[in-house]
Amino acid sequence: MTGGGRGIGRAIALSLASAGADVGVTARSFKELDETAAAIRALGRRAEAIVCDVSERIQVDAMIARVSTALGDPLILVNNAGIAASAKVTDTTDEMWDRMLRVNASGAFYCTRAVLPLMLAAKWGRIVNMASVAARAGAPYIAAYTASKHALLGLTRAVAAEVAGRGITVNAVCPGYVDTEMTDASAANIVKRTGRTDEDARKILEGFSPQGRLMTTPEVAAMTTYLCSEVARGINGQGIVIDGGALQS
Ligand code: NDP
Repeated sequence: MTGGGRGIGRAIALSLASAGADVGVTARSFKELDETAAAIRALGRRAEAIVCDVSERIQVDAMIARVSTALGDPLILVNNAGIAASAKVTDTTDEMWDRMLRVNASGAFYCTRAVLPLMLAAKWGRIVNMASVAARAGAPYIAAYTASKHALLGLTRAVAAEVAGRGITVNAVCPGYVDTEMTDASAANIVKRTGRTDEDARKILEGFSPQGRLMTTPEVAAMTTYLCSEVARGINGQGIVIDGGALQS
């Protein structure tokens, strides 16, 4: 479970633990991971908190090895770690572009490549990639984020096709704006750029959904846990949208 320290990732880690999984959680900030791990243990499951930057392949390989030693070979992988930033295309720096692709797309690739042989050996596995509605449609001022999430959905579909028939499914979840710190930062950015109040900025973000609200972490976590279940074995290579109905088909 990458990006398990807060927000959507923490909700998924706790949802998976509630469903009976032992969970290895990884991110860069140990304190947040430690809190997630304590909450998992309070649910009666085992947990391992491992500091790892998913954009660094060597760290990823070491992290997966540590999960295997502590909890057994991981047969469920949730690639949730991600970053977001906004800028006009013409203001998007090389650094912003490269960092977004490295964390949001390459990070998931490194984790997938490290874990897949274990799933193939076990003839069972579940991979869920936390994409975004930005994996399914273009929007202004987030070119690097959109490109990285389209890449993540492309990875999802390609790996799903490659391992179909081997007991493994690979899917993506594509939420609209979710009530997390990442969305707090998006609201703060609107305030900074436009001089609107925080309340107005939040209304703009809520307005992206026809339900007029932000999505919530339990909704995203429940879908992810379902995709990891046995009964979801027929769902493969999908990008499942959770946005209240803005994006259809
Ligand atoms: P948060 O910023 O609240 O949490 C992100 C998590 O990812 C943190 O635990 C963070 O920990 C971790 N992370 C970030 N960079 C790295 C890295 N290089 N290596 C390892 N871990 C990392 O974001 P959300 O919970 O909102 O988002 C989670 C995922 O959902 C992201 O992929 C995001 O793109 C996606 N998403 C979010 C939406 C939203 O509206 N919030 C909408 C659609 C998709 P640390 O900083 O300590 O490393």
